[in-house]
Amino acid sequence: MYNHIMIRYGEIALKGKNQKDFLNRLVHNIKEQIKTDLDFNPVIEKEMGRLYLLLDGRAPEDFYDSLNHIFGITSYSPARKTGLELEDIKATALEELRGAMQSMGLDTCKFRVTVKRAEKKFPIKSPEMQQIIAAHMLKNIPGLKADLHNYDVDLLLEIRPEGTYIYTRSFEGLRGLPVGSSGRGVVLLSGGIDSPVAGWLAMKRGVTVEAVHFHSYPYTSEQAKEKVLELAKRMAKYSNRVVVHMVPFTKIQEEIAHYCHDNMRIPIMRRIMVRIAEEIARQRDCLAIFTGDNLGQVASQTMESIYAINDVATMPILRPCITREKEEIIQIAQKIDTYETSILPYEDCCTVFVPKEPKTRPKVDACEKEEEKLDLPALIAAAVENTERIIVYGKDKPERRNIAEEPTVDAE
Ligand code: ATP
Ligand code: MG
Repeated sequence: MYNHIMIRYGEIALKGKNQKDFLNRLVHNIKEQIKTDLDFNPVIEKEMGRLYLLLDGRAPEDFYDSLNHIFGITSYSPARKTGLELEDIKATALEELRGAMQSMGLDTCKFRVTVKRAEKKFPIKSPEMQQIIAAHMLKNIPGLKADLHNYDVDLLLEIRPEGTYIYTRSFEGLRGLPVGSSGRGVVLLSGGIDSPVAGWLAMKRGVTVEAVHFHSYPYTSEQAKEKVLELAKRMAKYSNRVVVHMVPFTKIQEEIAHYCHDNMRIPIMRRIMVRIAEEIARQRDCLAIFTGDNLGQVASQTMESIYAINDVATMPILRPCITREKEEIIQIAQKIDTYETSILPYEDCCTVFVPKEPKTRPKVDACEKEEEKLDLPALIAAAVENTERIIVYGKDKPERRNIAEEPTVDAE
């Protein structure tokens, strides 16, 4: 019976404190994810560059979906752990090979044995051990063929001080860094294709991401808000949960439409979004703003626009999608399961107030001149004050509203 899942992680490029944070955070995230998904508190052992999840009588398959959504895992294998006695190892290896053949629907197969001997006190060297195990398989399973190069099953044995792990299958993990190991940031989440991908890419580099969405209800519908919550929920599959800040933007949009020059609406709107996002970021201990900007895609994404928008920022604005081809972004969106939601046809606050001829090369001083016509401090303060906060989870757990109590530092 399988009793462990062996989890591999790639900390090779990390040094010193980063490495320790990486590992502690990874263990924490795996535990939290499994607790949320399966309502079960797993034991995870750390041993010499590996993690071992104890199955405690459960099937390994129960955990795959959770593990497939955790950044920092390079690969994992369901494994049978036994001791260091030769007879036990032989019997367990036979059980594993039989199980693998059965799951592949094979009566017989070509196989090879790979032994890694991390426990140098184990008396039999790897090449000899490979032969002993192969001989035992050949004796017990009729029609079996050993073939080093052209094999159906690779039977792997890792002999370690604490026991021997035996497995035949490995599954790819997401790689990246565990969410929470690189600090905190907000992502400006529209209802489009790019910003959920930007948020996901930030998570992949270890950032705990909170979402900020600007809505123009009732110009935009209730469904448009629900769509954004659904996107955040899909992102939360990769980080257990996401805090969403729903900012009322209607008043600001109306004032811009009323007082500011038509073709300057978009950069002004974006500059105000940045100022509000920074306020929220500061309240939530976030140090950067992520957006789905992509160079050259639309009027607000020329170098001049980005320059004009960036000019009001005091925090770094990071743009993970900036140089990617649209096709590449769509592929990621499909992989992470946000695409279908993103293409739902609900309007965005920007599309409702879009000018006929937006300026593609807005100048900072022109923006500043237009902004003098607005009472920005009051408008921004009111928007921040009336922001609704919602926590969504990746699993079918009900969302929670009003997060005054929600800490910004995850409890270890
Ligand atoms: P997306 O596909 O993410 O909507 P886009 O290609 O449509 O991006 P824009 O509409 O110019 O480009 O938006 C650029 C970025 O500004 C978005 O990726 C997002 O980060 C941010 N943004 C735009 N509208 C909103 C909004 N209503 N709420 C929050 N962020 C927004
Ligand atoms: Mg958009």
